[in-house]
Amino acid sequence: MAQKSPSGSQTALREANRALLFETVRKFGGLTQIELSEATGLSTATVSNLVRQFVDEDVFETRSTIRSGRRATLVTLRRQLGISIGMFIGKRELAICVMDFSRTILSSHSLPLALDHKVDSTIERAILLIEETINALGATTSEIVGICLAVEAPVNKATQQVAVSGILRGWENKELRAPFSSVFQVPVYVQNSAHMGGLAESRLGSARGIENFIYVHASDGVGAAAFVNGALLRGVTGLAGEIGHVQVDPLGPICSCGNRGCLNTTVNEARLVSLLNVTHGTMTLDDLITMANEGDPGCRRIVADVSVRIAEVTAQVCITLDPKIVVVGGKFAETGDLFIEPFQESLRRLLFPDALAPIDVLPAHFEKTSQITGACLFALEHSTLSMTPAPAKEQQ
Ligand SMILES: [Zn+2]
Repeated sequence: MAQKSPSGSQTALREANRALLFETVRKFGGLTQIELSEATGLSTATVSNLVRQFVDEDVFETRSTIRSGRRATLVTLRRQLGISIGMFIGKRELAICVMDFSRTILSSHSLPLALDHKVDSTIERAILLIEETINALGATTSEIVGICLAVEAPVNKATQQVAVSGILRGWENKELRAPFSSVFQVPVYVQNSAHMGGLAESRLGSARGIENFIYVHASDGVGAAAFVNGALLRGVTGLAGEIGHVQVDPLGPICSCGNRGCLNTTVNEARLVSLLNVTHGTMTLDDLITMANEGDPGCRRIVADVSVRIAEVTAQVCITLDPKIVVVGGKFAETGDLFIEPFQESLRRLLFPDALAPIDVLPAHFEKTSQITGACLFALEHSTLSMTPAPAKEQQ
């Protein structure tokens, strides 16, 4: 009888270690055994034993990789455990990303949408796009563990509906989750797209391992995501980070949100291309970015000016939150140093001259795909996948 107690506590300890290891792999995706040991505090021998058990149970899979020039064993969840769908719904674009539990992107592509596209027809296209993409991968929709819609508009975190009318016209206060959950029978989330861009950079991108940073999504419309002590700052209603609606000109034009002179009124596509009408004729924001990258002086000038405008608002956020870095993504970040350098220079000019730790500005790792990548990660991280998804073998 006396020997039962240590044996029982050893079993409990091993179960706790298994749960810790499983949660760590689930949260971070692919980690080497040494990284797992560091992240969990378990010895490398314990990690190695538990990983072998999980591989035998078809929960984990391992493959060789190189870390810091040395061979290492990468541990991931088996793809067959499930895949997540991230979708971006913007003013003119619908995009999809499919990711497995090893955080590998299995597919990523987009379709153009007409301006002022309608909720019902866009949702129908989105559902079809999910089905087609899953079929093309040779997978089935029963493998989906969750769907996250990254919407290019402020999202009420309580209702998960577009919260401010006018920004994605016609989409405000509409229930968007039900059509997807009734077809796919999985949890569906609606999130702000800039928040999801920040999540991707936090987990897998330029801000990996950094607890305090600001992600700025600089496109036709500007949004931001602030990470404080490792967590996305949402605010009371979910609208934290909507820096595109900070007023920069009290006498400026009316914004899509109904206020006046917001940052977005100075850097939106229609206004920027109108500045090039006389010299360049009719063009789109994509043309402007391409020509800036090709060296066109007028387009380069516009990119630099936009960078300064956005940096001036970002500086106020930096003063308030004291982040370590700012990560910049979105269309303007595709111009690289043309956008990043004036941004960095403006922050230096506007923040404390003798800062304790000057804030570096880094380009996003996921230039065009941060928002759908983040949406996939959100769905994975909120999945209810349990440690023993397949019928569990007895472990004694
Ligand atoms: Zn506004």
